[in-house]
Amino acid sequence: MAVIRPELGTEGLAEDAHRIRLAGRIETLLYPPLCPNCGHRATETLPITKVFQFNHGDDGPWQYRIAHAAPLFCTDCIRRHQAEWQPLTRAERVKSVVVSELALPGFLTAAFALFLLGDSLREFIEEPGREWPMIAFAALLGFVSWLCFRAAASSNAHRRVAAVSSIQRAFDFGDDDSTVFATIQRTYAIRDEGSAEAFERLNAARSAALTSPEAKARENRRTWTFGLILGGLVLLYWWFE
Ligand SMILES: [Zn+2]
Repeated sequence: MAVIRPELGTEGLAEDAHRIRLAGRIETLLYPPLCPNCGHRATETLPITKVFQFNHGDDGPWQYRIAHAAPLFCTDCIRRHQAEWQPLTRAERVKSVVVSELALPGFLTAAFALFLLGDSLREFIEEPGREWPMIAFAALLGFVSWLCFRAAASSNAHRRVAAVSSIQRAFDFGDDDSTVFATIQRTYAIRDEGSAEAFERLNAARSAALTSPEAKARENRRTWTFGLILGGLVLLYWWFE
C-alpha cells in the first residue's frame, strides 16, 4: 500500500543529491531536457506530487499543502518508475472521501433524502399530485449532501497523493511557504549533477528577480500598506463602536 509521508520544509529530502535553491512557483519553473536520475537525454514529463504538512501556530490544526513538479525524464527511467510506482487503489481514494468528519453530515442528509423519497412514493401511490413538495425538499437535501462530500474530498486531497517512486525521488523538493508579503526559496535536491546545474541555469534569472533588493522593497511596501489598511480598519471600528 502506498504510504503518504507528509514532510516539513526540507526535512527528509534526498541525501545523495545536488541541492539548489530557487524562488518562484514550482508550477511555473522550466525543466531541462536532462534526466534528473541518470543525466541522459530526457523527453517525457513525469509529474511529481508531494504533500507538505504545516501549522501556523502551536495550537492551530495541521494543514496540508500540495505541490506539483513536472520534470522531464528519459524513457528508460520512466519505464523503471512505472514498474515500481504504486498508484492509490480505488478503495483508498473512496476512503479518503467517505472516512472523514465532513462526510458524516453528507451521509445523514443523504439518508434523510432517501427517507423522504420513499415517503413521497407512498404519497404518490395513495394520492398522486401531493408528492411534489416532498420531492423538491429531498432534492435540496441531496444537493446539500453532495456539497458535504465535495468538501470532504477537497479537504482530504492530501490523502489521495501516492508516495513517490525511487525514480521520482531523483527530483526531490522541499516546501515553499511564500506569501504575497515574503518570497521564500524552495530547496530542490536533484540526483544528477548535470541535470541540477541545467535546471538552476534555466530558472536563475526568474528566481533572482524575485529575491532582488527591488523585489524585497516591493514586499516591504506591500506589508506596510496592508498593515496601515488593517490599522485604519481597527481605528474605524473603535471610532464607530
Ligand atoms: Zn534517466
